[in-house]
Amino acid sequence: MLELKNIKKTYHTGNFSQNALKSFSLKFRKNEFVAILGPSGSGKTTLLNIIGGLDRYDSGDLIINEKSTKKFKETEWDAYRNNCVGFIFQNYNLISHISVLENVEMGMTLSGVSKKKKRKQAKELLKRVGLEKHIDKKPNQLSGGQMQRVAIARALANDPDIILADEPTGALDSKISKQIMELIADIAKDKLVIMVTHNQCLAEEYATRIVKMQDGEILEDNNQTKKEEKEEKKFKIKKTAMNFLTALNLSFNNIKTKKGRTALTSFAASIGIIGIALILALSNGFKIEIDNFEKDSLSDAPIIISEQAMSMDEETMMKMSGLDKDKEKYPTEKKVYVEENVMEKVTHTNNLTEDYINYLKGLDKKYLSGISYQKMTSLNLISKSDEKGYELVDTKNMNMPWTLLPTNPNKGQKGIIENNYDVLAGKIDNETPGLILLVNNRNQIYESTLKQLGLEGKKVKFDDILKKELKLVLNDDYYKEVGEYFVPNTNLEELYHNENSIRVKVQAIIRCKEEKEMLSNSSGIAYTNALTELAIDKNKNSKIVSAQQENDYNVLTHQPLEEENKENSKETILAYLGAEGIPSIIYIYPKDFESKDYITDYLDKYNDKKKEKDRVEYTDMAGMISSLSGNIMDAITIVLVAFSSISLIVSSIMIGIITYISVLERTKEIGILRALGARKKDIKRVFMAEAFIVGVASGVLGIIIARLLIIPTNIVIENMSSLPNVAKMNPIHAIILIIISVILTMISGYIPSRVASNKDAVESLRTE
Ligand code: ADP
Ligand code: MG
Repeated sequence: MLELKNIKKTYHTGNFSQNALKSFSLKFRKNEFVAILGPSGSGKTTLLNIIGGLDRYDSGDLIINEKSTKKFKETEWDAYRNNCVGFIFQNYNLISHISVLENVEMGMTLSGVSKKKKRKQAKELLKRVGLEKHIDKKPNQLSGGQMQRVAIARALANDPDIILADEPTGALDSKISKQIMELIADIAKDKLVIMVTHNQCLAEEYATRIVKMQDGEILEDNNQTKKEEKEEKKFKIKKTAMNFLTALNLSFNNIKTKKGRTALTSFAASIGIIGIALILALSNGFKIEIDNFEKDSLSDAPIIISEQAMSMDEETMMKMSGLDKDKEKYPTEKKVYVEENVMEKVTHTNNLTEDYINYLKGLDKKYLSGISYQKMTSLNLISKSDEKGYELVDTKNMNMPWTLLPTNPNKGQKGIIENNYDVLAGKIDNETPGLILLVNNRNQIYESTLKQLGLEGKKVKFDDILKKELKLVLNDDYYKEVGEYFVPNTNLEELYHNENSIRVKVQAIIRCKEEKEMLSNSSGIAYTNALTELAIDKNKNSKIVSAQQENDYNVLTHQPLEEENKENSKETILAYLGAEGIPSIIYIYPKDFESKDYITDYLDKYNDKKKEKDRVEYTDMAGMISSLSGNIMDAITIVLVAFSSISLIVSSIMIGIITYISVLERTKEIGILRALGARKKDIKRVFMAEAFIVGVASGVLGIIIARLLIIPTNIVIENMSSLPNVAKMNPIHAIILIIISVILTMISGYIPSRVASNKDAVESLRTE
């Protein structure tokens, strides 16, 4: 049931208008073979395109199934073209990059026929047109007649009710033309065939009806339908839809025909991905490296609790390091502002009380690898050397003060010292008063250190050091009471040999472990806690300490004491002289990185609900360093990623252009697909699929190349820094980058894809 009522179609080119169809009316039977004859330019193709739903009429009406098509939606036209109409063109219009079989299947693919069913149907049809041996060939491997047979098989694929053929034999010689005509006549037995032809003889031989046209009008119709003729059966119109997989397959086949170009495009597009992937791999690797380094070494750094604590939040730290982004920098106003005293802000004066020391005793030992409570007690030590005789040892030398050896609270386990130092000679015994000599990685110590022990020379044997004896002189021997004063005894020889004086020896010689070299490579002298405790125990009841406790002046200098001046307060001087008292600095060494959190939490808990002045703040150098280094890494990474992103944008634009070129190249294919019933959406999908393929290809290629470039990068870094395998690609980053690449190419492919989908079907078919 197909009828044209007063159809008008005018083409406008510039100022010129061409009436292709002038009030054209024609009614077709459900089953007949109509030949349309007429000179070139008489409107035959226009007529066929309008009947086939490829082109739209200006006015009038096309009646399908007794229904007006005036209000047909795009999708209804698509469905009509797909399964109600089959087109056969003069120039075959086959898709060149897919096989003969796939060409025949395409219409069925668009209407969602199952793979098995459409393969069977396509093979049967190709057999019917005599091409069963050529199904896997590409169209350009066939002759003209064979190509037209493929086109006929394709037209029949969805078993349409109408076959529209536009000069199907126009490009074929007469012998082949006859064969094709016979095929079409055979089809016309149970379908409506409308065929445009130049060839009057062929028309007369095969057609059941001949309509002659001139200047967009009917000149003659030899078998007009009569009013009383009634048609019962209706055409079937079923909705179509191409799925994304079909679109992918189509584009994949197309891309296969231009491998070189696709490879180059993907490579160019992957450069941005390569850059970002490398930067992320490096920053990821460095972060891991820094993390390990921090775990390794910074966890050995103690948490320090002293009278002055430093604690910084990130903001202050950025400010001090000049990395802050303050808009108020370099003001133009002619004014001077008050500067915030950062040091004052970050330092806190702690008042270490007995209460706090007791609180520290509650720390769970299992999180500690060492702890030291440093007291100000001076050690009255005298050394004896063969050349210089007896000398008072300055253990509080400003440049190289002796240090208190941290005590390992867990007996039988390795502590901070065992973890970081090798014992070269002797044995460390925390329970015994004694000294520990620390040498650097060349076994060196300063000459002054050597002298403090009463030794000389350029080389000293370990044994000689371990044999050396110093003497700890007690307060009552060292300080002589003279009236209200106390004066140090200067007869060192006598003091050294005094029977009260206590022998002090070097217990052990230790050296920093090779792998900890970066952390600490200094030399010096440490003493056991037992030595200080012994000194305090012997001196706390000495005459000078008692005298100092009773008097308000300094018993050594006779100067008045000042409680506000910590340096010269009674407490400080008593501590110095060896009275019992509160430690001045406490070092807490965490067992590992995780333990540190426990310790800082425990220390923070003490400050809960405490007034500002009663709080005890600690200094966590390791924490500050690691948060600063993390910040710097992040900042560098962001800057570098931003730079490489520029190349991502460039490649996106390039993919947009390439897709657009592809749209231009595939215009014909767009027309063919539209004629086969593809919706605009489907056309868009084909090109989005192409962009998708390029996106995936460039993403994957980028990751692969970046992965390969990591190898030489790591070699270079290893040569420069001796750190092996720094750059490491995080698999999550890799996946995200591929996704980003796909998204970007899809975005840049979108505009050309829309251009493609909006292309006029008829015009697309006309392009060569
Ligand atoms: P036929 O197929 O009979 O040779 P057509 O239907 O192709 O004729 O064309 C009929 C007339 O309409 C011709 O004069 C042609 O120049 C004109 N015409 C067809 N298509 C277009 C178009 N897209 N733009 C402008 N004029 C067109
Ligand atoms: Mg024509």
